[in-house]
Amino acid sequence: MARHRNVRGLKYDEDFEDDDVYGQSVEDDYCISPATAAQFIYKRDDYNRRAFAEEPLEEGDEYAEGEAAEPSHNNQPIPSGVDQARLYSCLDKMREVLGESVSEQAMVDAVLNSQYDAHKALELVLSEECQQPSKIKSAAPTRKSTIGKAREQSARVDAEIVPKVAKMTVSGKQITGFNIPSANTDENDHLRKGTVAEEAFPSPGPEASSKPNSTAHVALLTEEATAVQTLSKGSAKARQQIDVKAELEKRQGGKQLLNLVVIGHVDAGKSTLMGHLLYLLGKVNKRIMHKYEQESKKAGKASFAFAWVLDETGEERERGVTMDVGMTTFETKTKVITLMDAPGHKDFIPNMITGAAQADVAILVVDASRGEFEAGFEAGGQTREHALLVRSLGVTQLAVAVNKMDQVNWQPERFKEISNKLGHFMKQAGFKDSDVAYIPTTGLNGENLTTRSQVPELKVWYNGPCLLEQIDSFKSPQRPVEKPFRLCVADVFKDQGSGFSVTGKIEAGYVQTGDRVLIMPPNETCTVKGIALHDEPLDWAAAGDHVTLTVTGVDIIKINVGCIFCDPKAPIKTCTRFRARVLIFSIDIPITQGLPVLLHYQTLSEPCTIRRLVSILHKSTGEVLKKKPKCLTKGQNALIELQAQRPVSLELYKDFKELGRFMLRYSGSSIAAGVVTEIKE
Ligand code: GDP
Repeated sequence: MARHRNVRGLKYDEDFEDDDVYGQSVEDDYCISPATAAQFIYKRDDYNRRAFAEEPLEEGDEYAEGEAAEPSHNNQPIPSGVDQARLYSCLDKMREVLGESVSEQAMVDAVLNSQYDAHKALELVLSEECQQPSKIKSAAPTRKSTIGKAREQSARVDAEIVPKVAKMTVSGKQITGFNIPSANTDENDHLRKGTVAEEAFPSPGPEASSKPNSTAHVALLTEEATAVQTLSKGSAKARQQIDVKAELEKRQGGKQLLNLVVIGHVDAGKSTLMGHLLYLLGKVNKRIMHKYEQESKKAGKASFAFAWVLDETGEERERGVTMDVGMTTFETKTKVITLMDAPGHKDFIPNMITGAAQADVAILVVDASRGEFEAGFEAGGQTREHALLVRSLGVTQLAVAVNKMDQVNWQPERFKEISNKLGHFMKQAGFKDSDVAYIPTTGLNGENLTTRSQVPELKVWYNGPCLLEQIDSFKSPQRPVEKPFRLCVADVFKDQGSGFSVTGKIEAGYVQTGDRVLIMPPNETCTVKGIALHDEPLDWAAAGDHVTLTVTGVDIIKINVGCIFCDPKAPIKTCTRFRARVLIFSIDIPITQGLPVLLHYQTLSEPCTIRRLVSILHKSTGEVLKKKPKCLTKGQNALIELQAQRPVSLELYKDFKELGRFMLRYSGSSIAAGVVTEIKE
């Protein structure tokens, strides 16, 4: 189960806006302050410094057996303080181009000789390599060792994926995540050249191989030097072509991936239901469950033991409400499910939107107890708002868990009453009858969750699917893998080691390790060093995958929740002014020109103003009913123009359905859902 705090991406101002409404402080919500965030951000140098102090510079297994150690001539001492930080920044940049093909010391020397100018240092190293190719590690000192290493490394390509191991590199930096010596990395491009050279020049035997000036060796060195030159161009590298659709079908044992969000009014029993479901599926071990039972009893909240499986933070447990979006995975017969448990409390609806924006399908949990269902469903309750939000965010299939049925003795009348009331509303919200299923459950007792319930009171009138069967029968949506790559950042965090990680759902296209991707805004590029899906390292991931990318080459401070990672060749559009067709929700006060709203787009929330009310449209035909209206009232369809304070990256609905939708909120309430129709400037 992975849940990362939105340390980097918090927009404190906006949170204060919402918080003003609810009278809460940011620190209360997130247990994190800007100062704490800074503490996370500036960790890297500490790591490096510590690593340097404690670990001697060692070359590790960089050299094949029998290889001479790097000549230590000209070695310069590592500077300290700010210069050390400048040095590491240059080394990072150089390593992006050179990979591990040049020794650390040679790079350090070049940086120091070029006064911390990464470009100059790179040129220096490359020109030196051309003149003295023996400095290129894989070319030195013999052809045999190069080829041996090349073979060894290519043999490791498939086998050696080392997950989540912290280790020290030659620079003394600590890295974690995973080493993927995949066929498409720079390093392996370089190594492949060695293999080609081997075929071109049959092995001249051990003696010849030890002669540095043999013809074969010279040819190889030329190859290697060319390889380094090619790498220095960076972008010239062609990524290995993969048939993503075919690979996706093969992956996960042929199981399809589905992102599921659990929504519903606070206290409907969402966390208990899903916690119990995970327990029954064996995702929580008995010892931990026992611990939760003991702890929750001690805290006087025994009935919350299952909810604790998902409510991970101390504050959530103390308050007994889910605040953040919890995330975990489980499997059904035909699918691998990424589960997001969204907060039900109205204070945390922005978090819920973030969760729902990444979901394909939803489970709406309602409390069947008398009075409780009504409280959640009537005005002010979150049942309606959540259902409307997920529909507006593109979710079309829904399972309604009519929960706490034990509280009403499994009465079929109550179940019917709730299904009828909700059914009527769901239709209005835009769900097809056939895409909404109603399942009677009790999360606390675990009835009708993973197996069909045998409770006699239920069996007499219900023979439909249990919750897990229903989840399994959801249709997996089409994944737009053929479109340009798009990932919306849901979280940014600093792990150990160089670079940092972002999580998010890939909305379109696919990404491979080694890819350079563009981040919008702030219009920066970075290199994807690692990809993890459900904590498993992978070489690639595609639309629909909820992944963690480890990236380098960009400063973490520039990346926020809501940024879009995209294909540099087909970047997402960025603007501050755009037009949209909106559906106005049930609002009390009409919307007028100039209204300040909060734009929720995927994982982004950004202050905007309604710059212009262009026209009122006919709901189904789209025909203009009135131009330049003075105001918009509930239930109306309209064309409006929005002005953002800062640039936002958006897609037109007609181009990217998934990325063309957004929500507008005002004063803590969702007031409209919209689709982007025109990008102005
Ligand atoms: P959430 O806010 O929707 O996540 O709700 P929780 O899972 O935290 O549950 C709120 C309360 O309802 C807790 O006291 C649970 O023990 C209780 N609860 C949850 N499911 C059931 C159920 O099926 N039957 C009964 N009787 N109580 C339940």
